[in-house]
Amino acid sequence: MASTAFTHPQAQPDGARSFFGKLNGPWHKRALQAFMIIVIAHWAEHLVQAYQVYVLQWPVHQARGVLGQAFPWLVHSEVLHYGYALIMLVGIWTLLPGFVGRSRAWWLAALVIQFWHHIEHALLQGQVIAGRTLFGSPVPTSIVQLWFPRLELHLFYNTVVFVPMMVAMYYHVFPGGPDAARMRCSCALHPHAATN
Ligand SMILES: [Zn+2]
Repeated sequence: MASTAFTHPQAQPDGARSFFGKLNGPWHKRALQAFMIIVIAHWAEHLVQAYQVYVLQWPVHQARGVLGQAFPWLVHSEVLHYGYALIMLVGIWTLLPGFVGRSRAWWLAALVIQFWHHIEHALLQGQVIAGRTLFGSPVPTSIVQLWFPRLELHLFYNTVVFVPMMVAMYYHVFPGGPDAARMRCSCALHPHAATN
């Protein structure tokens, strides 16, 4: 089914809708590349922080990843953690329509998990704004933090969002024939499989 808007790009509406359409069509590849660089850099920071604590045996408060060594406020600012969680949520959601079939299921899984991760950060941010903490804790505390320490918990959260994103990217770049036929972007490495 070919929509007239797709057949005649000049017929597409102006403004946000066509911008959104382009992000999930001709711009999907570039947008995903830029987004994945941000995601991988952030996840690497969490891995470095875990290395600093578990291998180098640094005290948790001193273990601030790479950027955090130069800019400690980056790690100790709740609003930046919340902002990043929000960027992740909006980024995954914005780029979802470009995914079809199997890759879409995995990308959607990342979106659902990131939605919960973002709620946890919103709870932390809310405690900073309200000036009082939950659960009688001396520091802002999220729900699952009642069972797992913050460093390990957020390394886990970022990992369980990252892994389905990577699986989705794999199926997006190497789609099966039916999925390839429905893609509107140029992300697939073998787009001609669609003609099978
Ligand atoms: Zn794409």
